[in-house]
Amino acid sequence: MTEVKLQEAVGKLKESGVRITPQRHAVLEFLLNAKIHPTADDIYKALEGKFPNMSVATVYNNLRVFREIGLVRELTYGDSSSRFDCNTSKHYHIICESCGKIVDFHYPSLDEVESLAEQVTGFDVSHHRMEIYGTCNVCKNTKKALV
Ligand SMILES: [Zn+2]
Ligand SMILES: [Zn+2]
Repeated sequence: MTEVKLQEAVGKLKESGVRITPQRHAVLEFLLNAKIHPTADDIYKALEGKFPNMSVATVYNNLRVFREIGLVRELTYGDSSSRFDCNTSKHYHIICESCGKIVDFHYPSLDEVESLAEQVTGFDVSHHRMEIYGTCNVCKNTKKALV
């Protein structure tokens, strides 16, 4: 599954004329395997052992390239650092308020809200974002253990 996705992603990079360096390949592979929507820092920490010459800037640079050709989506959260999502199909997120983990959550896209917003405000709507917040299973159990 992931292997197929990786091949597809590599194909897309090649089509776009992007050179595939070992680091770039590793960042891509990490992203495709990560279910947690990692930050650039998470990716850097996971790969620095394998690529001692790699910097956080290199990771950012790769992520920017991936974003530009539509392989990843960048999720920004105000002042905290961006998270990266390689699932570019429409989906929603549920976020743990304790550890910050983001999990994909599938629900029919709320297209009616977009058209209603357009009608009411006269805006041209480009997209919307909906997030659900709560406490994940791991954090719930940790809390219980502490009590
Ligand atoms: Zn949590
Ligand atoms: Zn996602």
